[in-house]
Amino acid sequence: FSTSASLEEPIAPAVEVQHSKLLINGKFVDSASGKTFPTLDPRNGEVIAHVAEGDAEDIDRAVLAARKAFDEGPWPRMSAYERSRIILKFADLVEKHNDELAALETWDNGKPYEQAAKSEVPMFVRLFHYYAGWADKIHGLTVPADGPHQVQVLHEPIGVAGQIIPWNFPLLMFAWKVGPALACGNTIVLKTAEQTPLTALYVAKLFHEAGLPPGVLNIVSGFGPTAGAALASHMDVDKLAFTGSTETGKVVLELAAKSNLKPVTLELGGKSPFIICEDADIDKAVELAHFALFFNQGQCCCAASRTFVHERVYDEFVEKAKARAMKRVVGDPYKKGVEQGPQIDSEQFNKVLKYIKSGVESNATLECGGERFGSKGYFIQPTVFSNVQDNMLIAEDEIFGPVQTILKFNDINEVIQRANKTRYGLAAGVFTRNIDTANTVSRALKAGTVWVNCFDVFDAAIPFGGYKMSGIGREKGIYSLNNYLQVKAVVTPLKNA
Ligand code: ADP
Repeated sequence: FSTSASLEEPIAPAVEVQHSKLLINGKFVDSASGKTFPTLDPRNGEVIAHVAEGDAEDIDRAVLAARKAFDEGPWPRMSAYERSRIILKFADLVEKHNDELAALETWDNGKPYEQAAKSEVPMFVRLFHYYAGWADKIHGLTVPADGPHQVQVLHEPIGVAGQIIPWNFPLLMFAWKVGPALACGNTIVLKTAEQTPLTALYVAKLFHEAGLPPGVLNIVSGFGPTAGAALASHMDVDKLAFTGSTETGKVVLELAAKSNLKPVTLELGGKSPFIICEDADIDKAVELAHFALFFNQGQCCCAASRTFVHERVYDEFVEKAKARAMKRVVGDPYKKGVEQGPQIDSEQFNKVLKYIKSGVESNATLECGGERFGSKGYFIQPTVFSNVQDNMLIAEDEIFGPVQTILKFNDINEVIQRANKTRYGLAAGVFTRNIDTANTVSRALKAGTVWVNCFDVFDAAIPFGGYKMSGIGREKGIYSLNNYLQVKAVVTPLKNA
């Protein structure tokens, strides 16, 4: 594998942690218990900062602030245009702090700085511009009904939204959740992931500078079983949105049901198939399949973690996929040209290594990698397995790491069936020059997104979400607004009887 040893020095600006407290009612405050927890640098396990640790009592305080801001505050009452202006101003402020914010994201998460600076922060800005554009275009309907009645259907904000986000894309997950909720006029209590609490606090400060009224966006850092569970089961939270593992998704859905039956949207795990047909340009397919799996250290819910390759091009593909993985530049994510940083924490690091061991034990062929990279931090060598069979654990479970598994197929109908034989259904890809194949496969796959001759194309306007155990509901695009709107029918007789 390439290392970053010969690469240039760090390219990111120096950054300090300015905010580590909870954000409740527009103010940074200590947690009720006074407790803190450390957030760690995944490059070396060192403490970046001690962050206020919220739990049930802090969630109560935050929900109360959000409730008040919703019931009495200006946010849901101001004109949609004014809301839109504040969101736009916020996005513009973030854009000005692009590099500093990207540097902080890399520090807390370990992702390559260039990825954060050139793609994720700009995408964050784009998402808020997109949702600012929706704010004043959300409206109801009038519907024709039988009988002499006028029927208006009003679209109202739903109230206090509870949002729980993961650590793999801390900023983008913030944008996917907060953007639509605010555009629709809701107020929010957001629980960040315990591994990556820092950038949400940074941008929340900017949101208030842009004019967001206090109590509209409250942020509680803390752990899942305490803060997260308190939010999911809160009686005064009107809607819950969650992104994370399928296992935890089931827990929060149950908590929501057992408390006040708040509606829940879930964006969960995946085991996405990527089908490489015999007519594909192999060099391009290798590069795309590599990107589709290894992007973000393999820590993507939609990672193409089952690469199905047609038997006629299989050997060539495996050889080239291995060569590409061995060229992958692993190292300090702050350095120029680095493609892969560390995994997020020791738990994920150990989990991925355990899956690699299971792949070897089940007699898949380890083409390259398989070990930790270097001697400190949570780096893992880019790993490629060939001769993977459908019933191996590495072909069934979500690994969430830099481990490519390559499977062989010989018939398109066979591979469709195999691709669909999973509990997940988040995303899928197909690589072919044949339009009939592309159409057949994309319609037959049971997945919320099918990328044809591309992968990981994200856009604010494209809906994203899962079939089966990959989730409930869609985020981004017009579909995301429905998650944050209540529908009210107002029925009035045309003439009083
Ligand atoms: P991972 O295993 O990748 O950390 P999780 O699904 O456990 O994924 O975490 C995603 C988010 O869910 C995080 O913010 C985490 O704190 C939160 N979480 C974890 N457990 C619970 C729980 N029991 N209730 C509510 N939220 C939880």
